Amino acid sequence: MKLYIVGIGPGEAAQMTQRAQTALDCSEVIVGYTAYVDLVRPFFPDKTFLTTSMRGEVERCEMAVKYALEGRTVALICSGDAGVYGMASPALEAAQRFPQLDIEVVPGVTAACSGAALLGAPLSHDFAVVSLSDLLTPWALIEKRLACAAEADFVLCLYNPSSKKRADHLCRACAIVRQFRPAETPVGVVRSIGREGESWTVMTLEELRDYQADMFTTVFIGNSQTRVINGRLVTPRGYIHQ
Ligand code: SAH
Repeated sequence: MKLYIVGIGPGEAAQMTQRAQTALDCSEVIVGYTAYVDLVRPFFPDKTFLTTSMRGEVERCEMAVKYALEGRTVALICSGDAGVYGMASPALEAAQRFPQLDIEVVPGVTAACSGAALLGAPLSHDFAVVSLSDLLTPWALIEKRLACAAEADFVLCLYNPSSKKRADHLCRACAIVRQFRPAETPVGVVRSIGREGESWTVMTLEELRDYQADMFTTVFIGNSQTRVINGRLVTPRGYIHQ
């Protein structure tokens, strides 16, 4: 009777931790959103896979808890890190009434880290991560967090910058940050990290306004110190004085 909640990293096997691989190896049943299950299925062909649609988060957690309570070893997987806009908190909530259940949260490489590595070193100083998804958070609160983080000169890392329903959220976020930062502030955009079509680009805050992000995009907005060095986005830590 064991439930692993596993962050599998951005996509490719090389970016999955050994601990995550071991957890999947030990599990009989792997539960997840179809797209993530498809990423791991080739490496664990003899497991039982259970999938739900993208909006089936609660169903997925309940399913994982149910099978674990029946005595199976279950891995509930999600992309990146399980605790960063992932399944760890809803799964722990779903298991609230079952303190006897042995639950282990296995961390993974979140998009902020894998994306930052592609761009260079944008998160080398204090940074704030904000999701632009207003499915579970009121948009007014998202705007407030963006404004406060921008004013406090945090580097910003934006998850969920856009979707079909929320096409203008990134543009609106840019307008808020623009109140505190100049148009030429360096920005990095990464798409499909560790997956087919992986790409990254460096641009300015001004250019970001018109950028068409999708749900596999993570956006990095530099702070007052962030610079472009040989095409890479770098927020200096302050060791080397210019
Ligand atoms: N638990 C995940 C985040 C899930 S929220 C993690 O820790 O990475 C979904 C958002 O994460 C996406 O909209 C995107 O902003 C980011 N993201 C997740 N995987 C990504 C990938 N492979 N490439 C780029 N961005 C990704």
